[in-house]
Amino acid sequence: MPRRTGPRYPFEVPRGLQLCYSDAYARSVEARVLAVELEPAASVVLDATVFYPGGGGQPADAGTIIRAADGIAWRVRSARKADGEIVHELEPAGGANPAAPHEGDLITAEIDWPRRHLLMRTHTALHVLCGVVWRDYGAQVTGGNMEPGSGRMDFEFERMSGELVGEIQTKVNAELAAERDVRVKVLPRDEAFAIPDLIRTKVNLLPPGIAEVRTIEIAGLDIQADGGTHVANTREVGSIQVTGYESKGRINKRIRIELAGGEVASA
Ligand SMILES: [Zn+2]
Repeated sequence: MPRRTGPRYPFEVPRGLQLCYSDAYARSVEARVLAVELEPAASVVLDATVFYPGGGGQPADAGTIIRAADGIAWRVRSARKADGEIVHELEPAGGANPAAPHEGDLITAEIDWPRRHLLMRTHTALHVLCGVVWRDYGAQVTGGNMEPGSGRMDFEFERMSGELVGEIQTKVNAELAAERDVRVKVLPRDEAFAIPDLIRTKVNLLPPGIAEVRTIEIAGLDIQADGGTHVANTREVGSIQVTGYESKGRINKRIRIELAGGEVASA
């Protein structure tokens, strides 16, 4: 797919504006269809989108694309990154789902917001968990994953026990209740790598040639390199429950959490 290049960008950058990284609360955007592919499944690239393509343990968004000219709607079942672009995968044609929009069509792209917002709360809760476990126990993360409303993190944490897990839940909920702001920044590589403990994962997952690093800071608790979407303040998460604890070996331990109390209204 063609790229935009320029002096500010030492590397090729995608043509489509990717709003999920700069404004997690953007639910819809008007855009033009830049490219359409029909094989193996119908998919489109837009000149602007609010869809998150998945990554860092956070699933991709689902949603709809509505054409301005005739109001025809397509269900977007998922999104993914391909060559830097966010590709929207459409439900197969049939029933109410027509084949695909055309290149140049003006459309509105809209995400399934209740699901995304739940993922934002879940992702932020996992960062608070990660921050507490690092600050108080010095344990590094070895993996993680989430669904809307629940998630798990694996730690290199030899002395973790069932009792400690209760203590961790109490500490995480205290941090959530402390109404900490969550800040997103994009920093030049050198500035980002000067931050102690920025790369909390056991293996540094950042590509070696990267020019800028996006960071998520939970004010006063945690800062990490991260590509996901988060709420603006920990109060929006509510509280969590630890629903499981598993030993995955002598050193590797897994903690499962769920958001308690269902939906919280967004700010
Ligand atoms: Zn994350």
